[in-house]
Amino acid sequence: MFDIAIIGAGIIGTMISRELSKYKLDIILLEKDNDVANGATKANSAIIHAGYDALPNTIKAKTNAEGNAMFDQLCVDLSVPFSRIGSLVVAKCEEEKKVLTELYERGKKNGVPNLKILEKEEVLQMEPSLTNKVAGALFAPSAGIIGPWELAIALAENAIENGVELKLNYEVKNITKEKDYYKIYCDEDYLEAKYVINCAGIYADKINNMINSPYFEIMPDTGEYQLYDKSVGKLFNSIIFQCPTDKGKGVLALSTVHGNFMIGPTSERVKSKENKGTTRRGKDFLKENIRDLCEEFPYSKIITAFTGLRAKVISEDFIIEETGNSSGFINVAGIDSPGLSASPAIAKMVVNILNNIASLEKKEKFNEKRKAITQFITLSDDEKSELIKKDKRYGKIICRCENITEGEIVDSIKRSVGATTVDGVKRRARPGSGRCQGGFCSPRVMEILTRELNVGMYEILKSNKGSYNLIKRKVENENWSGENV
Ligand SMILES: Cc1cc2nc3c(=O)[nH]c(=O)nc-3n(C[C@H](O)[C@H](O)[C@H](O)COP(=O)(O)OP(=O)(O)OC[C@H]3O[C@@H](n4cnc5c(N)ncnc54)[C@H](O)[C@@H]3O)c2cc1C
Repeated sequence: MFDIAIIGAGIIGTMISRELSKYKLDIILLEKDNDVANGATKANSAIIHAGYDALPNTIKAKTNAEGNAMFDQLCVDLSVPFSRIGSLVVAKCEEEKKVLTELYERGKKNGVPNLKILEKEEVLQMEPSLTNKVAGALFAPSAGIIGPWELAIALAENAIENGVELKLNYEVKNITKEKDYYKIYCDEDYLEAKYVINCAGIYADKINNMINSPYFEIMPDTGEYQLYDKSVGKLFNSIIFQCPTDKGKGVLALSTVHGNFMIGPTSERVKSKENKGTTRRGKDFLKENIRDLCEEFPYSKIITAFTGLRAKVISEDFIIEETGNSSGFINVAGIDSPGLSASPAIAKMVVNILNNIASLEKKEKFNEKRKAITQFITLSDDEKSELIKKDKRYGKIICRCENITEGEIVDSIKRSVGATTVDGVKRRARPGSGRCQGGFCSPRVMEILTRELNVGMYEILKSNKGSYNLIKRKVENENWSGENV
């Protein structure tokens, strides 16, 4: 029997796992997909928000500012890319400048450090590519950019290093309460745990309803993005938000931690929790709105588009609590934005809740460090030669756009939370992240996956279950039906 079962390996589940791995506990992290960070954690704005957005005294407000301050140490310990480039909320008229003052006051109440309202000239000095129509801006130097899935993968690796067990492809389908523990079912298979933490993102309501009466509903809301080539990467120095108006929050723009440029998101309430497609409507909206920030925006440099799903609840605040009618069952639900920024503080909150019911004891030894995959391209010439001498696979470039070597790809597969799919390799070592988006290197990545995992080429997936890259055609059978074999 486990002490704790955590359901969902997004940023919330992995952050909580790692935080709880500091204690003497048997923990299992359950994930329905074939990899960690396959939900909202892989498709968001990748911003560590400063914390002026949420209404004071909400859980969002408290955990955002507190979580933000924890990222420097966390990202050093886990070797995750993070940069405090600061953010600007841009006003384009006197009316919008009043909103900046509101956000400033709210931010101060929420404990956001060093906020400043800037005049037009100061803003344009900081951001020469910004529209000349700017009238002023709210500057938040504590805002930053991060690799969200890289953080979740690093957290999972470090949690495993500290004793947590990860079970992928385990979709929780039912939960029953026994006398003083829970049975957690995946079809006929089940496991037992004294405490359950529900971090199932968009499906957190479904998990809650397996054991409690329904008391919240998760409403999916799509956010579409466009990613641009590195040649656009330096257009702005900070994260640029538009001033929120009655019409919405507008489009934000930022450089990513890997030097690309990103614009988005849209916001549209949808019915399906699997609705992750991009739309013509979304594309037009982004194109129209980015003009409000930069009139000469280089649209032709787009390299890909993607969609994330926000897990919205009516209360618009995070739900982080032990549920009334099931002791030892903790919901961490409705974690939409700024869930990524708040995640370290959310994990602390969950530990406090558990501590009140279970009196946790710290381990004598906890290894807070995790080593990243060596990025060959960042090494000096001497270091490169040394590495190739030790392992010749570092001398073979597989991804030409991003200069990723075979050595890095093999490392991404061989880790404790190793990649098993083409996108899994991409998220860890970055082949396929460049201009050609894998057009050249995907088949080579598939070959490496096939060899290292000792499976057939036809079994290699692009990402989630069923996303086969290759279809084998039964040439001998003229009535071939088109299924995978
Ligand atoms: C468009 C968009 C933009 C955003 N921008 C930002 C931002 O810039 N900054 C910020 O701080 N936040 C942002 N957020 C919010 C942030 O991305 C989320 O708060 C965060 O990723 C939520 O993490 P999670 O672990 O709760 O959910 P997820 O990452 O969705 O993880 C939940 C996991 O549970 C698994 N699961 C579901 N059902 C089951 C089951 N039955 N059994 C087992 N596993 C299950 C899923 O497969 C999934 O892996 C944004 C979100 C979106 C969608």
